[in-house]
Amino acid sequence: MSVRALTRASKAIVRDTLAEVAWRVGVSAPSRTCRGELVIATFHRVLPAELRAQYAFPELVVTPEELAFFLRFFREHFTVTTLGDAHRRMRLGERPARPLLAVTFDDGQRDNFEYGKPVLDEHGVKASFYVTVDATEADAPLWHDRVGFAIEGLRRRDPSRAAALLANRPLPVALEEAKRMSTSEREAWVERVESEAGRARPSWDGMMSWDQLRTLHAEGHEIGSHTRTHPILPRCDDARLETEIVGSRARLREELGAAVDTFCYPNGDHDVRVRDVVRRAGYVLGVTTDWGRNPPSVGAYELRRFDIQSETSRGRDGRLSRARLALRFSGLQPGLTGRAG
Ligand SMILES: [Zn+2]
Repeated sequence: MSVRALTRASKAIVRDTLAEVAWRVGVSAPSRTCRGELVIATFHRVLPAELRAQYAFPELVVTPEELAFFLRFFREHFTVTTLGDAHRRMRLGERPARPLLAVTFDDGQRDNFEYGKPVLDEHGVKASFYVTVDATEADAPLWHDRVGFAIEGLRRRDPSRAAALLANRPLPVALEEAKRMSTSEREAWVERVESEAGRARPSWDGMMSWDQLRTLHAEGHEIGSHTRTHPILPRCDDARLETEIVGSRARLREELGAAVDTFCYPNGDHDVRVRDVVRRAGYVLGVTTDWGRNPPSVGAYELRRFDIQSETSRGRDGRLSRARLALRFSGLQPGLTGRAG
């Protein structure tokens, strides 16, 4: 075993032992660590394991079985409700014995409805779904998925050409670089990747339809805005911000025939100017991708979340672990801060 592998293994032993002990003696119990605070869980896609195995971004996926594990844990230890409701109750000073937790899904993927909703129904959980309006209207994949599908397709046929197309960078690194491009530069890059690798959208991919979103809303789930086109908002000019933030709200209200009060920043990116537009547009809150819980002192337009990933919720034995999940929520685990997903 290399020194690095040994270090990693011993870190995992320390982490799991800490998690188990903290869980057994109750110091990481959410009723203790999250009392009076709002906890927000982030999910993206829900896909069966065999489809996750074909997807370029498996860290964005939980399987229906994994989602059921997370929902059981949430139901046992939290008061689970939509984000709008949870936030309102915290503002009113409610401090339930089981702390408030909201389940959020970003991007509006169709798998949320097909594979996620049955699990939510089974556990009686109402969630908040953040919809990218133009992608919904066109049933079009988001730009990172267009790249992921094209590269994954090419990789299966010709791995070295796929690597060369990304200038031998890992896909996540290439995408991070693309996020720093202007919108038009990025679009040009995505189109070049697609034209060289070939478009390859799998049949299981798609966005939720307006009918599916109306069904979710009618059943008590919350639908919020995730903009029109999923841009990096601080890079947008004022007119574009208006379209993305104000325009998406108007379009969602029109289609759903209901109020749309909550907003989710694409990629978690926001600044003072962006937050001002979100507030003026009439949203009551905005969620980021900053990692952590929300005591009442956290600003309504800078709410933090916990990005829930299967890989970081398992113990060394490979099984999903309540103790590890509780430790992540507790803030007691060293080195777990900053941004996540
Ligand atoms: Zn997103």
